Amino acid sequence: TDSIDAAGADRNASLFARAQRVIPGGVNSPVRAFRAVGGTPRFVARAQGPYFWDANGQRYIDYIGSWGPMILGHGHPAVLEAVQKAARDGFSFGAPTEREIELAEEILAHLPSMEMLRLVSSGTEAGMSALRLARGATGRSKILKFEGCYHGHADALLVKAGSGLATFGNPTSAGVPPEVVQHTLVLPYNDVAQLEQAFAEHGKELACVILEPIAGNMNFVRASIPFMRRCRELCTQYGALLIIDEVMTGFRVALGGAQSLYAQAIPGFAPDLTVLGKVIGGGMPLAAFGGKRAVMEQLAPLGPVYQAGTLSGNPVATACGLATLREIAKPGFYDALAQRTRSLVEGLEAAAARHGVPFAADCEGGMFGFFLLPELPQNYQQVMHSDGARFNRLFHGLLDRGVYIAPALYEAGFVSAAHSEDDIAQTLAAAEAVFASLR
Ligand code: PMP
Repeated sequence: TDSIDAAGADRNASLFARAQRVIPGGVNSPVRAFRAVGGTPRFVARAQGPYFWDANGQRYIDYIGSWGPMILGHGHPAVLEAVQKAARDGFSFGAPTEREIELAEEILAHLPSMEMLRLVSSGTEAGMSALRLARGATGRSKILKFEGCYHGHADALLVKAGSGLATFGNPTSAGVPPEVVQHTLVLPYNDVAQLEQAFAEHGKELACVILEPIAGNMNFVRASIPFMRRCRELCTQYGALLIIDEVMTGFRVALGGAQSLYAQAIPGFAPDLTVLGKVIGGGMPLAAFGGKRAVMEQLAPLGPVYQAGTLSGNPVATACGLATLREIAKPGFYDALAQRTRSLVEGLEAAAARHGVPFAADCEGGMFGFFLLPELPQNYQQVMHSDGARFNRLFHGLLDRGVYIAPALYEAGFVSAAHSEDDIAQTLAAAEAVFASLR
């Protein structure tokens, strides 16, 4: 049921009807349309801290946080001030600024695998550019990705597994000619045997392997340590670049990104290229890709790999990202965030158990995922065994109680530093009631 304001008018519904006349599906990114879960998308009027308010004035505890960027919560005073000041000095110049250097230096200081980076405006752009760079730097065409990992909507990455083992993929979108994805190999995530077989067959032609270290686009699935180790070893052995897509996990699961967690478990572990987005822009359109100097210097204007952007390194976006990174680099930030996230996840597990609802959850830093499954899945096929109808009841039950989680079961969730103990307690009380109704 959708909330109705005092005058009896549901403004979300009227805005959705109006939006659908001028914007395909009424939204500018498909998941926002609530197609999977049904019902009326909430049109956001404003947000503050861990909350946003919809067009009916209804408040929600926000566990999406713009799909990851809002790690400080909405409207953090230091970030707001930095953005306002930057905006007064100019919106965009198309010429370099000191702040771009400061942001690059701040990011590189936390990610030792990267010696240089380039700023762009979206994760899609960063992933697409990293791919071109890997191909340009190696002189090879083939790329390897994993089913369930999303790296933005560049043509070559919109691919699902083909039929049979280690075959090249099929486009997942109309408008992507099969020839454009003929070099993209798609394998199941966390499957070391298939990875080894693919390298045995195609390793010498592979420009790169690209993966999400914790896959947040099939809810929340960690790359196993042996799997990540083999990805690194095989790339090194065959001269392919290992690209870690940390658009979601970067500065979200730890200050050093997910790669810092794998480096603890795998001595000497480092990717060749890293893709970043979301948190580094603090909610503004900003993303980056970077890695070793020798690879990055293949980019124009130094090298032969072309890449450019009118709004790249935008002065307002860099101010927002820089202010955000300076806040989250303060001592104790991630310990507190991780503790808050864990209390949410453990509370949800306990509530589900009390009501006999199969439930498995995981979290790292300020990112979490849960499944209406008895155990955590390891790959996309297993994620898709989730009970969609039950998830939709859970989603709407929480929404009706003022808790906003991702409107699709294959999306991760995000806790911000602004979520208080009390917000978590309110969320758990809502979840308790919904689980009771699900049994
Ligand atoms: N890579 C990953 C891991 C992502 O989660 C996303 C977005 N959800 C992207 C790339 C694409 O980023 P953007 O939406 O900014 O283009």
